[in-house]
Amino acid sequence: MHKITIAIDGFSSTGKSTVAKRLATALGYVYVDSGAMYRAVTFYAMKNGFIAENHFNKQQLINHLDDINIDFKFNESLGFAEVYLNGQNIEKDIRTLDVSQFVSQVATVSEVREQLVLQQQNFGKNKGVVMDGRDIGTVVFPEAELKLFMTASAEKRAQRRYDELIERGDEVSFEAVLKNVQSRDHIDSTREDSPLTMADDAIKVDNSNLNLDEQFEFIYNLAIDKIAECN
Ligand code: C5P
Repeated sequence: MHKITIAIDGFSSTGKSTVAKRLATALGYVYVDSGAMYRAVTFYAMKNGFIAENHFNKQQLINHLDDINIDFKFNESLGFAEVYLNGQNIEKDIRTLDVSQFVSQVATVSEVREQLVLQQQNFGKNKGVVMDGRDIGTVVFPEAELKLFMTASAEKRAQRRYDELIERGDEVSFEAVLKNVQSRDHIDSTREDSPLTMADDAIKVDNSNLNLDEQFEFIYNLAIDKIAECN
C-alpha cells in the first residue's frame, strides 16, 4: 500500500497534536510534532542564558545552532515519541508556559527554521508521516497529499491549554494562557519567514464544537479516502 504524507497546520492549541497522534497510530504512520522541535530550541536557549529577563540574544543562539541535537524516541507506554535534546528527555520541560512565552520569537529566526525544516523533511522522506505545525503544508511538505488546517476560537483553545497545565500541576491563570495563545497567533501569522497561513489546497477543520472522537472520525475518513485515491 502506497503511503502518503499528511500535513496538519493551524493555530496554537487547536488540538492538532492529539488528533495527529491518534491518526498516525490508526494508520501505522510516524507522528512528528514539529512544534516540539521549536520548543526544544527555545528550551536550549533559555538553559544557556540566551534568553534571560525578557531579552532574547538571537545571535548567540544562531552561533550555537550546531550544538543542538533534537531527536524523537518512541515511548511504548505513552504510545508516542518523546523529544530529546542532546540525549536528554525534555518532553515535560518544553510544555511549560515559560517556554510557550518565548517559542514564537525563536521561531521567527530564519536560521533556526532552515535547520529544523531540513530535519523535518528528512523525517518524512519515506512518506507514511503525519506532521503537525504551522508551515508543514506550505513550506515543509508543499507536495503533501493531504493537508488540514485546524482552527477554533481563542477562548476554546486557551481553555484546553489551561486545563492541561492545571492537570500537570502548573500554577497559571486562565488570563495568562489566553494572552499567550493570542500573542503566539499574532507572531506566528505575521512573521516574515514562513508565516502561518492556510495552504490553498488545505481542508479547513473548525473544531470549536467537535469532540475528540468526532474530530478524529472526520479526519480519519479524509485520510482513508486520500490513501485509496493514491493507490
Ligand atoms: O505546536 P506548538 O504550539 O507546540 O508550537 C510552538 C510554537 O512553535 C508555535 O507557536 C510557533 O511559534 C512555532 N512553530 C513554528 N512552525 C512549526 C511548528 C511550531 O513556527 N512548524
